[in-house]
Amino acid sequence: VEDVSEDSPEDLEPRPPVVVVMGHVDHGKTSILDALRKANVADGEAGGITQHIGAYMVKLEGGERVVFVDTPGHEAFTGLRARGASMTDVAVLVVAADDGVMPQTVEALNHARAAGVPIIVAMNKMDKEGADPEKVMRQLAEHEVIPEEWGGNTMFVPVSAHTGLGLDDLLEMLALQTEILELKANPQRRGKGIVVESRLDRGRGPVATVLVQNGTFNQGDTVVVGSATGRLRAIVDENSVQHRTAGPSIPFELLGLDSVPEAGQEIFAVENEKQARDIVRYRKDMEREQGAEAKKRASLDELFANMQSGVKEVPVLIKGDVTGSVEAMAESLAKAGTDEVKVKIVHKAIGGITESDVMLASAANAIIIGFNVRPEAKAKKVAEVEGVDIRFYKVIYDAIDEVKAAMAGVLSPNKVEKVTGSADVRDVFNAPKVGAIAGCYVTDGYVTRGSHVRVLRESVLIYDGVLESLRRFKDDVKEVKAGFECGMSVEKFNDIKEGDTFEFYIIEEVAATL
Ligand code: GDP
Repeated sequence: VEDVSEDSPEDLEPRPPVVVVMGHVDHGKTSILDALRKANVADGEAGGITQHIGAYMVKLEGGERVVFVDTPGHEAFTGLRARGASMTDVAVLVVAADDGVMPQTVEALNHARAAGVPIIVAMNKMDKEGADPEKVMRQLAEHEVIPEEWGGNTMFVPVSAHTGLGLDDLLEMLALQTEILELKANPQRRGKGIVVESRLDRGRGPVATVLVQNGTFNQGDTVVVGSATGRLRAIVDENSVQHRTAGPSIPFELLGLDSVPEAGQEIFAVENEKQARDIVRYRKDMEREQGAEAKKRASLDELFANMQSGVKEVPVLIKGDVTGSVEAMAESLAKAGTDEVKVKIVHKAIGGITESDVMLASAANAIIIGFNVRPEAKAKKVAEVEGVDIRFYKVIYDAIDEVKAAMAGVLSPNKVEKVTGSADVRDVFNAPKVGAIAGCYVTDGYVTRGSHVRVLRESVLIYDGVLESLRRFKDDVKEVKAGFECGMSVEKFNDIKEGDTFEFYIIEEVAATL
């Protein structure tokens, strides 16, 4: 999915497709990958010892090659998002034919859609008694994935990882899909790829699995990834075989970096070490200057600017505490559209906001609307890095009003909430008359007297209110910073439990922008 428009057509050569296998947990992703792999490594090229490196190549009977990426669903779509691309060309959506469509099936589907890659549905576990492929087709049709048999354009294939049924058909469909895509790359240029996995190996130092997107990497190349750099010491495949070069779509293990890169980061070969140092210095400066805040602002401004310039869709991802509110929200937002702008729901589900949601929103350039739910800690961090805007609401109408206002090109809220810090509840005392007093430890930021507070239990919002008291030992205090213990009570709320998290926020007035 690499953009090869800069390469002249005569330099382009066909490259193998990169395929991601995704689906609900236990529906058989790993089993299918293993089965495909075993059936195809038999031609003696490998000594049988294969390592997990997160990506590997399978040779089809006709000699075509297919590269499978073996990472958790959403991670396969990281990297290159900004340009609307992803590291995969085709997604195989595995659905157990006995279980049918499950929540993570839908999530995976939406990821593939946001990345704009074609989908092949593998209906697995056909050997099982309750297998009902018709049901899978019906269920997916409800999500607008229509089988070819029914006049749609999605290939559905019944398979069994256990008996091997249909696996050849699946490979054939992949070959077919690949032909349609006409994937090309220019092996002549300097290598450019994406990090699929990375780790620090005790003996070998930083190790990264790289998938080549364009060009060719050579042993000895100087490479840059993020703000890390190094010399490509060795190119090793999943069978531990060393190679001198790696061309387009080829996965390989890279040794010789000076620090461990992150999955999803872009890696490229540069002319020489000086150039590498210059790029790294420039990147570090940028990081210092801009920070996540600037990125975040840019994404919102971009969104509204897009809307005003007549872009027809406002992508939104909805997470809520109960099905009713998620559905009501989705419906109302859909209705809020006008002839010029429409709300596009890229994903909706119940539960807290996860890292996968953030990655999906980032890919689709969507705002996340959280309805009585909060983000998981990791999701929050990723949202900051990715510059994804997450907004929280307790009242459906507020959310709709704000989205409507945004759609009208007016950024409505001139009051914004600012999170100041959070605390863990370590003890709860019940004082006569006063009610529940939480013995807390402020884990980050600070808390001020009279602050707003959200009470979270396992990432789910339990209560949103105001602090009634803030004390250290026996004294009322104005503020408590991270690293200190204090006692707090929440106005009109006594159902505090040990293990709850308090998140503190204040309401700030800001000048309306736009
Ligand atoms: P993943 O979580 O999607 O990677 O699923 P796994 O590949 O780990 O499979 C989950 C379970 O389903 C395992 O116990 C497998 O043995 C079983 N399984 C996978 N494929 C099949 C199949 O085709 N038929 C049957 N009967 N069981 C399967």
